[in-house]
Amino acid sequence: MTQHAVTRPIDQCPACGDSNLTPFYAKDGVASHSCLLMDDEAEALTFPKGDLRIVFCQNCAFVFNTHYNGSLAAYSARYEETQAFSPLFRDFARDLAKRWVEKYNLHDSSVLELGCGKGEFLVNMIEEGAGSGIGIDPGVHPERIDPALESRITWIADYYGPKYSHLKADAVVCRHTMEHISPVGDWMRDIRAAIGDQPDTVVLFELPDVLRILEEAAYWDVYYEHCSYFSAGSLARLFRATGFEVLEITREYDDQYLVIEARPTATPAPGEPLAIEDDLDRLRASLEPFEQSVAASLATWADEIRTVRARGGRVAIWGSGSKGVSFFAGLGETARSVDYAVDINPYKHGKFMAGSGHRIVAPEQLAADRPELVIVMNPIYLTEIGELLQSLGVRTDLRAV
Ligand SMILES: [Zn+2]
Repeated sequence: MTQHAVTRPIDQCPACGDSNLTPFYAKDGVASHSCLLMDDEAEALTFPKGDLRIVFCQNCAFVFNTHYNGSLAAYSARYEETQAFSPLFRDFARDLAKRWVEKYNLHDSSVLELGCGKGEFLVNMIEEGAGSGIGIDPGVHPERIDPALESRITWIADYYGPKYSHLKADAVVCRHTMEHISPVGDWMRDIRAAIGDQPDTVVLFELPDVLRILEEAAYWDVYYEHCSYFSAGSLARLFRATGFEVLEITREYDDQYLVIEARPTATPAPGEPLAIEDDLDRLRASLEPFEQSVAASLATWADEIRTVRARGGRVAIWGSGSKGVSFFAGLGETARSVDYAVDINPYKHGKFMAGSGHRIVAPEQLAADRPELVIVMNPIYLTEIGELLQSLGVRTDLRAV
């Protein structure tokens, strides 16, 4: 059964409440989840689908999907989003944990992580000196965590919300989660209310930077699960509007992510905009060419894939997560000419990708099949993947989207 959700579109900005919304990108029938593992191809192909109607709020610059339907979200233990099998991502997370523990003196302090995923980052925080942690996430897998840390970490397999306002901590951490939250204003107000009168609490968030997505026409980073997209400016405005003082915002990971550090304060929060927040002109300029750039890029890839297939070569993509699901959705029929998706996460091997139904294989498969073209879903991993392929003795045309 294919489920196609139709709900009333969101007609007010969830960040600021304004109705002056400019649509700039639309796509119908995309898989509603991209990191859920499917055991068979049929299940993957008939996965529930939703529509993308991406708009830009002219008042606060928040970007979101007006057709997002939260009832299609089903985060659970089957959700396999972790990037921690990549050494590069692992090192980045560890460095960030170390930086936060030192900068905000979180030695022996308590950390509450909202949307902790598989819990790797909470472990990093404790290894770098934090005292204890509470991790909340519907997809938490505590059995993957070192048993020696068991007594210091509490896991809650659930969504965060007002019912958890009793949970207090010295630091509230939230990484790669807010882009999955549709009512972002309510979410921030809930967090602010839960912190209450504890002005020393530090609030540390990390999420994708929509400025890069728009300027690079990175359609593989626009998908159903990500209903909310922030720039430095829109993120800082929401933080201030919901009772936080913004301490610092930085771009990280080849400018793919934003890191914001804040403290609770009285509403409205004081503070002048930081230089990094000055992104309105660039955002506005990138809206109009976005859809056309996406179409041009997809047409080029489709051509290349068909050419390789026509002479009997194989094609694979590297990365079976959200970016891969999104890439296949964009390719449409041509996606069938791609043999499979490679992933370094062993929990994904033998499973199938939602929407397109592609099989997920281990890198070793490439040594047997010798594909002519391997398309990498995130350029930041090109070096890492190149080295791995070299160690496997695989020579191929390795390129990033
Ligand atoms: Zn707005």
